[in-house]
Amino acid sequence: MRLSYPKAPSFYEASAAPPPPARETLRGDLHADVAVVGGGIAGCSAALHLAQRGYRVVLLEARCIGYGASGRSGGQSIFGLAASQHTLIEQVGRAAAQRLFDLSVEALDLVQSLISDFNIDCDYAPNHLHVAVKPRHVDELRAWADELHDEYGYGSARFVSGAELPAHIQSPRYLAGLIDTRSGHLHPLKFTRGLARAAENAGVVIFENSQVLRYEDGAEVRVHTAQGTVRCANLVLCCNAYIGTLAPTLARRILGVGTYIIATEPLEERARELLPSNAAVADINWILDYFRRSEDDRLLFGGRVSYSSVQPRQLGESMRKRMLRVFPQLEGMKVSFAWGGYLDITMSRAPDFGRLAPNVYYLQGFSGHGIALTGLAGKLVAESVAGTNERFDVFARIPHRDFPGGPLFRRPSLMLAMLYYRLRDLL
Ligand SMILES: Cc1cc2nc3c(=O)[nH]c(=O)nc-3n(C[C@H](O)[C@H](O)[C@H](O)COP(=O)(O)OP(=O)(O)OC[C@H]3O[C@@H](n4cnc5c(N)ncnc54)[C@H](O)[C@@H]3O)c2cc1C
Repeated sequence: MRLSYPKAPSFYEASAAPPPPARETLRGDLHADVAVVGGGIAGCSAALHLAQRGYRVVLLEARCIGYGASGRSGGQSIFGLAASQHTLIEQVGRAAAQRLFDLSVEALDLVQSLISDFNIDCDYAPNHLHVAVKPRHVDELRAWADELHDEYGYGSARFVSGAELPAHIQSPRYLAGLIDTRSGHLHPLKFTRGLARAAENAGVVIFENSQVLRYEDGAEVRVHTAQGTVRCANLVLCCNAYIGTLAPTLARRILGVGTYIIATEPLEERARELLPSNAAVADINWILDYFRRSEDDRLLFGGRVSYSSVQPRQLGESMRKRMLRVFPQLEGMKVSFAWGGYLDITMSRAPDFGRLAPNVYYLQGFSGHGIALTGLAGKLVAESVAGTNERFDVFARIPHRDFPGGPLFRRPSLMLAMLYYRLRDLL
């Protein structure tokens, strides 16, 4: 199934400065050291870090910079990976799982240093809160806080009891939390566009409206769009759920899942009352709610998942109902924007980085946890192209499986899986 690009205009498009005039479409033949496909955070970060190392880089984007998940996301920059540490230990062992965790923390710090090094005005604010919806979640969060501290040496996250919770969130729905001051949130479209600008200033040439249709590998890789070709020594694919026929091996290992966000009208003082510490919040259900305050004091409320490639009908209204479960005090408030985007989830929800050939790299499978990790992924791929593979290979060694069922049956089987997770969330 081919994913369409979700069309509804987002709050982010409305609140970012107007984009620069569309960049040129690739026409004719070009030479480069590296071609990067995809103008999300992963692609822009890879291009920037490669250019900083002196490579001649061309970035090809099918639509415009930030058009995919990076410009639509919840904007929560969170430690860890989408897969639990327990899953990672089973997959790669204790020592490598620790390395993966440490790299996820480095990813948080990289977000902040990119913002300050390149003066990216993207409304970054610290604090992130995971919240417990059910009594069993309270024990899970308490155990998680201990594990982070005792086993991973992570000192900035701590358990928040129900009694302390109102200092962070005014909601009757939650029983306890885990606050982390090193995680935070940002305006993802401003951040992505800022990275693209930094990459261009470092010498990257970006083409928009330049979908890569196919490539031929070999010592010289040839990358083809409808009107042009890039010949390069290395190729980096950062296409998220849109990878499709460009690399069927990769497409089989991810599933494009829709997730959705609404933005309320500006709530002014009320928004500050709802979330007094300005933490971004996510519950710990599998099909989770995630939300935060915007810079202009709206509530940006995300949730739902869909395995269909069509945007759900009455999206704003169904999301508003979910929001009222959390904040019944917002009854009567208007929803100004509703939009969605696609996540690239893997079977285990661990990220999927690697090489399809010695000089053809890919970064995918962020599984809804990519705001921070995509930036680091771009840096690691640049290290690997330059010959230092060690950190990239910590990720590349994570094993991945195809989704079962082949092209025809994988969505139906995933819908069944989703039903299972919905039921599990109810327990
Ligand atoms: C609604 C939503 C909420 C989210 N919330 C969070 C959150 O709060 N925290 C978090 O950590 N993560 C979140 N995520 C996930 C996170 O946004 C992604 O993991 C991350 O942005 C992925 O970045 P990327 O660069 O890999 O992909 P994208 O940003 O999707 O970029 C891929 C780009 O590649 C282009 N492309 C694809 N194929 C081709 C081709 N053949 N030729 C040229 N260009 C091509 C696409 O047009 C697209 O612009 C969310 C995602 C969504 C959709």
